[in-house]
Amino acid sequence: MINIVLFGKPGAGKGTQADFLKHKYNLVHLSTGDIFRFNIKNDTELGRLAKTFMDKGDLVPDEVTIKMLQSEVDKNPQAAGFLFDGFPRTIAQAEALDKFLEGKNQEITATVALEANDEILVQRLLERGKTSGRPDDQDEEKIRNRYQEYNEKTAPLMDYYKAQHKFYAVDGIGAIDEVTERLSLVLDTFQ
Ligand code: AMP
Repeated sequence: MINIVLFGKPGAGKGTQADFLKHKYNLVHLSTGDIFRFNIKNDTELGRLAKTFMDKGDLVPDEVTIKMLQSEVDKNPQAAGFLFDGFPRTIAQAEALDKFLEGKNQEITATVALEANDEILVQRLLERGKTSGRPDDQDEEKIRNRYQEYNEKTAPLMDYYKAQHKFYAVDGIGAIDEVTERLSLVLDTFQ
C-alpha cells in the first residue's frame, strides 16, 4: 500500500499530474478541492459552507475538511493506496491524517511537491479561470490570497514531512509528460 501526498501551490499542476499517477500506480485520487466543488454543484450543506470560504480564496476550516477527507477514505476500503491532492494543507490536517492512518495500520509513504515560480502560477491560474468557471481562478486578488494562505498555513508542512524523512520535490515546470516522468522517478522507489 502506498499513500502519496501531492503537494504544491495552486496552479502547480497537482490535478493534471494526479490524473496520470492514479492510473499508473493504481491509487484512489482524493482531491479535497474537487470534492468541495462537487458538493457546491449539488448544493449540499457542506457545499454551501465551503463556498463561503472558497470564493474568497480562504481555506475551509480544518474540522470540516478533515471530517470530509476521512469519510472519503472510508468509502474506499479496497483501495491499494491513496493519492491525496490538496490535502493536507495545514499542520492540524497533517497531524489528523497521520493519526487517522495509524488507526488503520497505515501511513503516508511520501510527499512530493511540484515546485514552480509564483508569477508563472498566477498567470496560469488567470488563464485557467477563462475556461474553468472557477470564481477563485478569475480574480487576481483572490489568487494572491490563496498564495498567502499557502505561505502561512501550508508551506510549514514541508518541514513537517522533512522531519519524517518523507519530503521530495520535483520541478513542476515543463511539458506535462516530463513532469509526470520526474514524479515517477520518485514514486517508483516505493513500488
Ligand atoms: P484546490 O482545488 O485544491 O485549488 O482547492 C480550491 C479551494 O478549496 C481552496 O482554495 C480552499 O478554499 C478549498 N480547499 C481545498 N482543499 C482544502 C484543504 N485541504 N483545506 C482547506 N481548504 C481546502
